[in-house]
Amino acid sequence: ARILGRDRLLVFTPKMHEKARGAMETLMDLRQAMEKDELILFYQPIIQIPDEKITGVEALIRWKHPHRGMVSPAEFIPIAEETGLILSMGKWILKKACTDIKALNDLHPKKPITLSVNLSSKEFANTELFEQIRQTLAETGFQPELLKLEITESVVMGNAEAAVITLNKLKEIKVRISIDDFGTGYSSLSYLHRFPADSLKIDRSFIRRMHLGGENLEIVRTIVTLGKALKMEITAEGVETAEELAMVQELDCPCVQGYYFARPMPLKELNTSHFFHPLI
Ligand code: C2E
Ligand code: CA
Ligand code: CA
Ligand code: CA
Repeated sequence: ARILGRDRLLVFTPKMHEKARGAMETLMDLRQAMEKDELILFYQPIIQIPDEKITGVEALIRWKHPHRGMVSPAEFIPIAEETGLILSMGKWILKKACTDIKALNDLHPKKPITLSVNLSSKEFANTELFEQIRQTLAETGFQPELLKLEITESVVMGNAEAAVITLNKLKEIKVRISIDDFGTGYSSLSYLHRFPADSLKIDRSFIRRMHLGGENLEIVRTIVTLGKALKMEITAEGVETAEELAMVQELDCPCVQGYYFARPMPLKELNTSHFFHPLI
């Protein structure tokens, strides 16, 4: 099919058509997914290196589609963002995650863990975000000190002034901020000290290339040094092998997250895992 615009010709190939229809179907299904309880939160442990104990979890959404099986958030989060559906979805995610991890911490009161929740740019631009977070904390009884909001550099850079205001308000109520995928954005260094972030997560792309040595290793070393100088917590993302673990350990990176220690898992599995029931 061809569509003539005012001054240009758009040609739809069968493949484009297929793709557009796929996205449309995904969107229509996604609208109902929340009501049908098809969205599930998984939790991936974050480990502190010296003693290899769990220090927190990151909530990661999954969609159990009736026909397509598990759909990756990489596929549906962008659609939810474009359509604004992310606002109600994000609200649900925060409340569910706070409720789940509050219950978990109540079972293990001696070592409460932190909860990291991802925020996308649409959510961050929402003027009701702060109030929504404050209210969710009040409703669920989740300790603000244990909540870490993960935002990427581009989310912050998109609206730097408004971002600083929101971040400062969150800081006032003791909620923590992590910069996700650190190193993949631009101008990281020039603005970093101006943002009230408490932690950095080193993007997996750097961790994966560390074994090549040279500048790859030096980038990770520099991020760790920088984070420490700014008194930030630092987590290496996507550590998959013993070799990668040894390297981040060598660089004195305090926390790791990755398949080497654990994959994202349902709450029930986390609760019964060796992280809470050491095999001694
Ligand atoms: P992210 O925030 O950077 O999350 C880390 C991703 O790396 C997760 O993918 C996680 O499962 C994966 N991962 C962790 N360890 C390893 C490892 O050792 N090796 C490899 N290869 N991968 C590892 P996931 O769950 O598919 O999520 C993809 C992205 O979708 C996230 O990237 C985040 O940007 C977005 N996302 C996921 N859940 C949410 C959510 O609840 N809200 C929002 N706004 N975005 C979310
Ligand atoms: Ca994240
Ligand atoms: Ca990340
Ligand atoms: Ca990432």
